[in-house]
Amino acid sequence: MRKVLIANRGEIALRIVRACRELGIRSVAVYSDPDAQAPHVRAADEAVHIGPAPATESYLRGDHLIEVAKRVGADAIHPGYGFLSEREWFAKAVADAGLIWIGPPASAIAAMGSKTAARTLAIKAGTPVVPGTTQALKDAAEAERLATEFGFPVLLKAAAGGGGKGMRVVHEVGEIANALASAQREAKNAFGDDAVYIEKYIDGPRHVEIQVLADSHGNCIALGERECSIQRRHQKMVEEAPSVAVNPALRKKMGDAAVAAAKAAGYVNAGTCEFLLDKNGSFYFLEMNTRIQVEHPVTELVMGIDLVQWQLRIARGERLPFLESPEPKGWAIECRITSEDPANGFLPSTGRITHLQLPAGPGVRWDGGIEAGSVVGLSYDPMLAKLIVYAPTREAAIERMERALQELVIGGVETSREFHLRVMADAEYRAGDVTIQWLEQRLPEILSRKAPEETLRAAVIAAALIADMDRRARSGASPAGARNDGGAARSAWSDLARREGLRDS
Ligand code: ADP
Repeated sequence: MRKVLIANRGEIALRIVRACRELGIRSVAVYSDPDAQAPHVRAADEAVHIGPAPATESYLRGDHLIEVAKRVGADAIHPGYGFLSEREWFAKAVADAGLIWIGPPASAIAAMGSKTAARTLAIKAGTPVVPGTTQALKDAAEAERLATEFGFPVLLKAAAGGGGKGMRVVHEVGEIANALASAQREAKNAFGDDAVYIEKYIDGPRHVEIQVLADSHGNCIALGERECSIQRRHQKMVEEAPSVAVNPALRKKMGDAAVAAAKAAGYVNAGTCEFLLDKNGSFYFLEMNTRIQVEHPVTELVMGIDLVQWQLRIARGERLPFLESPEPKGWAIECRITSEDPANGFLPSTGRITHLQLPAGPGVRWDGGIEAGSVVGLSYDPMLAKLIVYAPTREAAIERMERALQELVIGGVETSREFHLRVMADAEYRAGDVTIQWLEQRLPEILSRKAPEETLRAAVIAAALIADMDRRARSGASPAGARNDGGAARSAWSDLARREGLRDS
């Protein structure tokens, strides 16, 4: 493997460029019109323009990407996450074109591609799944009968589901017929497949996932867990490794279960088995993500292994470096920095990044795809970067994340930075007392509370405002910038105070 085409953009493309460079492999970036100046494009050894902004006309044009790879003499394709990473046809087309696919075989993607197929496979492998069916529901009558058998609440789920689409929680028998019809409709629209099955709804679980790595020589190991319960609308916001809810014995059990499912699928390369972990320590397989995941860095830090390098090494035929699962060392936390405005219902924020000051210092890692001058639009995912910290203990990691978030300055667009500061300051979060419902329930409280840093900032602005007024009163001058329009006094400080919500206009 001498040259890899990276069929992706943003932070993950840059992450793959770095792994390639450390292994002495050349990298080829691809880019759409708005990404022409993007950091991943400049970082790669070569770059090829592939089309306009819409992903369907650029990053999702699999056949074109394969053509480009052949034209530039690449011998492998890395898909990153999202886009084409879990499309069975693309994995197959890459291999058929005589290129190395840096990911699992197409057959493994297919085996884990539908939730019902994955459940069937997991059951065969002896991996525990949530009680439920493995077949699409025929009608509401069948759904009612099964729901009564499993006991309410139940969850209706699209077999082809992803991103929480086509999912409905049902609390009583009278709600089933409507819920089924709307889940089927949503599934049909989103995935072109209206198959919906039924699962028991697990009350108050954590989302805990196991990283696996399998080589092409039949070896497969688990690399511990990631705690991903901090979710909003089924989107992860904060991830950690390890999980406060997992001890070495449970880690071993979950690791074995994940490895069994991966082996049953004929898995090769990096993958992740997602589980729900209930309050009693029982865990249930949800699905397998057949790609590198956004949150992979927390595992890298506590396991001391470079997962993206190992994706490349496995794809070129190397054997795993060890066959026993290591225990995690220290604690890692990741915050997803998105261009969403928490104060405004997490609405996407767009614009030019005018200023970017990155955190640094001990134990801080920034996996980003932006720089000052980058334009944030609506064509792609709002995740701009990941801020990751590593420390000996969870407490120290939280302190470090607070410090790093305080150092981070992003001007020009609204981001999730403030939100993360508030989560880090939250007593329940600090106690590790969370479930997958926690964030949604706690959000009003988190958003209304002033983070300690904000309180300090407010005090500084208030003090400056008073000093300014005092100085002007004593000198007898009108406030700076005042217009003689009947006392509409304005100064830079009072403008700032107004923007910060400390003074009304
Ligand atoms: P998707 O592929 O659409 O993201 P998942 O099966 O991964 O669907 O489920 C998304 C989220 O929904 C999970 O992370 C979890 O928060 C919740 N969830 C899924 N299945 C259950 C269940 N049986 N009981 C309770 N919550 C569930």
